[in-house]
Amino acid sequence: MTYDTQNIFAKILRGEIPCTKVYEDDHTIAFMDIMPQADGHTLVLPKAASVNLLDADASTFAALFASVQKIARAVKTGMGADGVIITQFNEAAAGQTVFHLHVHVIPRWEGVALRRHSGTMESPDVLKANAAKIIAAL
Ligand code: AMP
Repeated sequence: MTYDTQNIFAKILRGEIPCTKVYEDDHTIAFMDIMPQADGHTLVLPKAASVNLLDADASTFAALFASVQKIARAVKTGMGADGVIITQFNEAAAGQTVFHLHVHVIPRWEGVALRRHSGTMESPDVLKANAAKIIAAL
């Protein structure tokens, strides 16, 4: 698959559509997932264009995973989570639905089940409130 510059995350990166941003630096951006599998579910993206991990330039991973660690710590602390899972899907058959490389940071609490992937849209107010908690922990 070739990279489609009209994919939704490319549009967010260009500022053409909004996101609930929690973090940005020269190489990465993090924002709230609009269909969270748990409260505080955050996505971390490299700004460099690639469909997924498989076609990415390996030089993007140092900055990407530095941001993933930063966000994972802030999500765990800010959301008061017991743990955090990191997921990343490659190709439609593996569950990928947006074709710009991204890493999911999903908080977990003992005894709380994960919601369905790409399930229910969250309200903007809840996304903003959770983003504020994560930002406060950065
Ligand atoms: P994946 O299956 O790894 O490609 O996941 C894409 C994720 O992006 C899903 O969890 C969606 O809920 C999420 N998503 C889709 N559109 C948006 C958007 N406009 N802003 C934030 N998250 C989105």
